[in-house]
Amino acid sequence: MSAGTGFDIAIVGAGIGGLAAASALLKAGHNVHVYEQAQAFARVGAGIQQGPNAVKVLRKLGLEPRLRELAFRPNSSLNRQWDTGEVTWERELGQFVEDEYGAPYLYMHRGDLHAALASTVPVDRIHHGAHFVRFESEERGVALHFADGRCVKADLAIGADGIHSVVRRQLFGDEQVRFTGRVAYRTTFAADRLGGIELDSSCKWWGADRHIVIYYVNPRRSEVYFVTSTPEPEFAVESWSEVGDLDALRSAYADFHPRVQAILEACPAAHKWALVERAPMPRWRGDRVTLLGDACHPMTPYMAQGAATAVEDGAVLSRALEGVDHSDINSALDIYESARKPRTARIQQISRLNDMDKIRAEIESVYSYDAWNVPLPSA
Ligand code: FAD
Repeated sequence: MSAGTGFDIAIVGAGIGGLAAASALLKAGHNVHVYEQAQAFARVGAGIQQGPNAVKVLRKLGLEPRLRELAFRPNSSLNRQWDTGEVTWERELGQFVEDEYGAPYLYMHRGDLHAALASTVPVDRIHHGAHFVRFESEERGVALHFADGRCVKADLAIGADGIHSVVRRQLFGDEQVRFTGRVAYRTTFAADRLGGIELDSSCKWWGADRHIVIYYVNPRRSEVYFVTSTPEPEFAVESWSEVGDLDALRSAYADFHPRVQAILEACPAAHKWALVERAPMPRWRGDRVTLLGDACHPMTPYMAQGAATAVEDGAVLSRALEGVDHSDINSALDIYESARKPRTARIQQISRLNDMDKIRAEIESVYSYDAWNVPLPSA
């Protein structure tokens, strides 16, 4: 364990949240290792939006030039009525967002964002095939145990292991996630399959009880992504390998605008993912163990802020640990938690409502947040 300025930090999970935290903590001078259960990273067919609040964090991690090159930056995002196609709200993005919030709003392939983050963490700091099973508090730190018998020691452990977090379960018990009764069909596919169908740069088609979001994921507009929220109360599987039945998907949107139907017709395959969430948690930490991202504030994807807030967590956590002595790690974790909980709880609550007017009212506070400069509460 370290005795100098930097702490030995073990992060469980190399998702977007875990890698962003690793990158921020390495930059701050800590000795960081990330433990990921998967044997290798897989590029899954999904898009992801990163609002200016996330891009401000990614900028300081050195990723802005790379992301600007690989991501799509539309001038606006449309909200349309499911059947008539009437535009109910055009959300200005592009230069407007940059001027207003100091960073761009980017749409990209999820695999590209993940690879960009991974490129900021030396390969010998990411340990694949490391399935975390439990931790033990020790006098000066934490011992982490893995399924293959490995045990590593650290001054501080961070559970960035997603919505079913094993770290969270050991800290707070086995409370089940809430299945929303809805599934997301999602896929990316080559835009030339569209055969000339006119596509908005980015659009959410709002139905009475379902919606579909469609956008490009690169600046060449050569790849299209869509994601739905579709009622299906009897399905509760969250797995990247779960294949969606295209006939069921198309029939769920059969009375949507002809353009939506044409896009679904053009798509060759889609994955299907149960949408689950948790209520905001009262505590995030134990003794020198804390959580970040979906492990402590999972949310529905309706504000596109789950990964964005996970990325913010890493920046704020690294700031809370700045200049801290070993004996004050828990106080620093309290500062991190107090700084982050109100914001993430609010976004969780608004996101679950999936109400266009309520989402619109949150934009200012969500996008203007700057994780590197927001004042931190005192201990
Ligand atoms: P995860 O991505 O779940 O990563 C957790 C990692 O931990 C995984 O690599 C996992 O293998 C590993 N792990 C788990 N258990 C263990 C263990 N025991 N030992 C070791 N490793 C372990 N967010 C946005 O910001 N913008 C969007 O546009 C957006 N769209 C979305 C669309 C959909 C349909 C969904 C479902 C979500 C969307 N999100 C979006 C949310 C976003 O995907 C998540 O909030 C984000 O991926 C959470 O990152 P994380 O690192 O906390 O967790």
